[in-house]
Amino acid sequence: MSRAQILDGKACAKEVRSKVASAVAMIKGQHGVTPGLAVVLVGADPASEVYVKNKGKQTLAAGMASFEHRLPAETVEADLLVLIEQLNQDKAVHGILVQLPVPAHIDEAKIINAIDPAKDVDGFHVINAGMLATGQDGLVPCTPVGCVILAKQAMSDLSGLEAVVIGRSNIVGKPVAQLLLRENCTVTIAHSRTKNLKDVVARADLVVAAVGQQELVRADWIKPGAIVIDVGIHRLTLDGGGTKLVGDVAFDEVAEVAGAITPVPGGVGPMTIACLLRSTVLACCRAHGIVAPDL
Ligand code: NAD
Repeated sequence: MSRAQILDGKACAKEVRSKVASAVAMIKGQHGVTPGLAVVLVGADPASEVYVKNKGKQTLAAGMASFEHRLPAETVEADLLVLIEQLNQDKAVHGILVQLPVPAHIDEAKIINAIDPAKDVDGFHVINAGMLATGQDGLVPCTPVGCVILAKQAMSDLSGLEAVVIGRSNIVGKPVAQLLLRENCTVTIAHSRTKNLKDVVARADLVVAAVGQQELVRADWIKPGAIVIDVGIHRLTLDGGGTKLVGDVAFDEVAEVAGAITPVPGGVGPMTIACLLRSTVLACCRAHGIVAPDL
C-alpha cells in the first residue's frame, strides 16, 4: 500500500473532456460555430499513428470537427508549408497540430513557426512561447498544462511551493517551469548538466520529472510529502514477452515517501489529448470573440 495520494490522470482527463464537450455544445448552440482541429501526420511512425488516431477519436467524441491529413514520408517541406497555409486560411479549422517528429529532411522549427500562432494548439510557435514567458494569454503546450492541472488536484494553491522541474526541453521542461512560475512557485530547472541533482530535487515540495530516463528519480531524492508529477514514458519488454510502461520516477518506492504522485500509465499521459481539445476550444472562442467558458 502506497502512502501517497495517487493522482488519477484518466479520471481527471475525463473531467476535462466532459467540460470541453459542454463548452462545444454551448458554442454550437449559441454561436453556430463548431470548433475544428486539424492534425497533420507526415510518414507512418507507429507511435505517431496511434496518437493521431486517438486525437481524431476524442475530437469527434467531444462534438468537434476533426480534419486528418496523412502525408507520405517523402513529402517535401514546401508541400507541407502549402498545406499549413491552407489550414491557416480555413475558417473551419481553429487548431492545427503537426505530429512530431517530422521526417529528418523537414525543418521542424520552420514548420511550427509557419502555423498561425492563433491556431497553434500545441503552443510550440515562438510567439506562443514568448507569450507564456511574458505572462500573456497565448496557447500553451498541452502536456505541461496537464501536469499543472494534476498538481492542483493534490494542492489547489501551489503558491510559494519550491518546485523543481527536471528537464529543459521546449515541449515539456521549459513551459512547465513557466506555468509553475505563473502559479507563484519558486522554480528551479534541473537538466543533464545539473550538479548534485539528488540534493536539488530533495528541496522540492513539487517535482516534475521530464527527463526521458527510466526510473531515474528514487525515493531517497524526495522530500516526505512532496507532490511528484512523472512525465516520462518508457515501454519495457518483459522476460515473459509482454510489455510494461514505466516513467522517469521509480513509482513503487517514491509512492512510499511522496504526498501525491502520478502513475505511469494513467497519469500525465491521458491529460495531453484532453488539454489539446481544451486549447482548440479556447482558440475557437478567441477567433470568434466568444467569452470562453471555465475549462
Ligand atoms: P527531451 O529528451 O527533449 O529532454 C529531456 C531533458 O532531460 C533534457 O533537457 C535533458 O537536459 C534532461 N536530462 C536528460 N538526462 C538527464 C539526467 N540524467 N539528469 C538530469 N536531467 C537530464 O525529452 P522531452 O521531450 O522533454 O520528454 C521527456 C520525457 O517525457 C520522455 O520520456 C517523453 O517520452 C515523455 N513525454 C511524455 C509526454 C506525455 O504526454 N506524457 C509528452 C511529451 C514527452
